[in-house]
Amino acid sequence: MAHFSRWAPVAGGILASLPISDALKGRKSLRCEAKQSLPVVVLGGGVMGLSTAWSLCRRGVKVELLDANHSEKGSWGETRIARVSYADPVMLRLARRSYELYEELKKEHREPLMCPTGCLDVGFDRRSLDGLAKTYEELGQSYERLSHRQVAERWPMLRLSDDYVEASVFCPAGDAVLASVVLEALKEQVQQLGGPAAYVESPVVSIDRAKKTVTTEDGKTIAYSKLVLAGGIWSNQILSLMGLPLLPLVTSVEQQTYYATPEGTEELFSAGKLPVVLEHNPSPEPEMKRRGGYMIPHVSNGVDGVKFGMHRQGPLMDHEDFPMVPGAFAAAQRYFACAGTRAERLWSQRWPEEEDSHLREETDAFARRILPDLSIEKSELTMRCPYDQHLYADEDFVVGVHPEDPDIIVVCGFAGEGFKFGPAIGEMAATLVTGDSFAVPESVQRFRLNRPSLLLLS
Ligand SMILES: Cc1cc2nc3c(=O)[nH]c(=O)nc-3n(C[C@H](O)[C@H](O)[C@H](O)COP(=O)(O)OP(=O)(O)OC[C@H]3O[C@@H](n4cnc5c(N)ncnc54)[C@H](O)[C@@H]3O)c2cc1C
Repeated sequence: MAHFSRWAPVAGGILASLPISDALKGRKSLRCEAKQSLPVVVLGGGVMGLSTAWSLCRRGVKVELLDANHSEKGSWGETRIARVSYADPVMLRLARRSYELYEELKKEHREPLMCPTGCLDVGFDRRSLDGLAKTYEELGQSYERLSHRQVAERWPMLRLSDDYVEASVFCPAGDAVLASVVLEALKEQVQQLGGPAAYVESPVVSIDRAKKTVTTEDGKTIAYSKLVLAGGIWSNQILSLMGLPLLPLVTSVEQQTYYATPEGTEELFSAGKLPVVLEHNPSPEPEMKRRGGYMIPHVSNGVDGVKFGMHRQGPLMDHEDFPMVPGAFAAAQRYFACAGTRAERLWSQRWPEEEDSHLREETDAFARRILPDLSIEKSELTMRCPYDQHLYADEDFVVGVHPEDPDIIVVCGFAGEGFKFGPAIGEMAATLVTGDSFAVPESVQRFRLNRPSLLLLS
């Protein structure tokens, strides 16, 4: 079996001939020093692993990138939402930083990575919408509050349910991200910056932290100076390979449905004619983790139809590939919205291939609440997709140096929110490797691994 699967060859030269952002100028000494040492091994070739590799290569750090090529990875698929619509100021600043880096990636890739749409936040939860508007105000983010009538005037296909709060929040910073194009752009940049021309495409099966080596299923052993674990839903499996304690992570299987547009109206439902939409739903119980719904308009050359999904409402996976800390079952029962709405089907023992009728009913109802002219009874495509969720007592991501091994940096727990933050998280992980400061320093403390979990409270 071959060790390497070649990425498409790209034109272009070496690191020295490429423009790098002002923030990275003046790091030549680090680059030269790092080039002579063992590589930083990045384990995981989703958006987080690739973004980390990109950021490290921009700093001149030698990188080796490994990926098992799991088909059901979180970064799979054609589109994602990018937005700054977070009521939490740190998350908003992190999203802004990611937008800046996406812009730098686009300049280097020279092809669009996103379709600009703007982002409309709607829903039943007035406190949540007011909180978002307040943060926009405080951070000088341009936005508008819109009545249902104003929404319909601007986007004629959007006719918001009377059950919604009559004060939606629109922010021009919102996009449909072309996810697969982003992954290709990151691979291309890693290669252009002198990084590996391909990743080692074989699952890592053992990690020796004393010798600082990883070994892949096809027998390749690679020594590392630092190891960045960006393993998505497999993070606990890989931690156990390292002999490190499991983190409070759980995996859920979510669902996305593309609804058909009536004959001849596709254009009216496309990016440019519609914003991306977020629905704010109050949780069944106040202590439960946040949930909601999202809509992404049709993108040209993409899958036919308009994409809808419910956020964090799919069943959780009880499978040996996704080991869990003791107590995870009880905590999930209490803190996950899917538990509140469908206790009897909280856990799934196998990867479900078929459509989930409960999630389908939920997206049907959401689609009727915002786009009643869609052909809601007719779906073009339904897909299942994993979220790497966690049982920490907050909604933050899990990014930090491992408390038991300073050479291991863990990057996971994105719970369906990660793609937009990819380049910023990659930069954060790279700074944890190099010791540089990060643009949103508060996130370093907040995202650390050893913070309070919900397990003790169950
Ligand atoms: C349905 C759905 C909708 C989403 N919508 C949005 C959205 O609108 N906006 C947004 O910002 N985010 C969204 N997300 C979330 C976002 O896509 C994820 O947070 C992100 O893609 C996770 O990337 P990752 O790199 O952490 O994990 P992954 O993409 O899962 O990558 C992990 C990688 O690790 C590799 N790996 C695992 N085990 C091994 C091993 N033993 N050896 C080597 N490699 C290994 C796998 O092959 C995989 O490639 C959505 C996610 C889903 C599923």
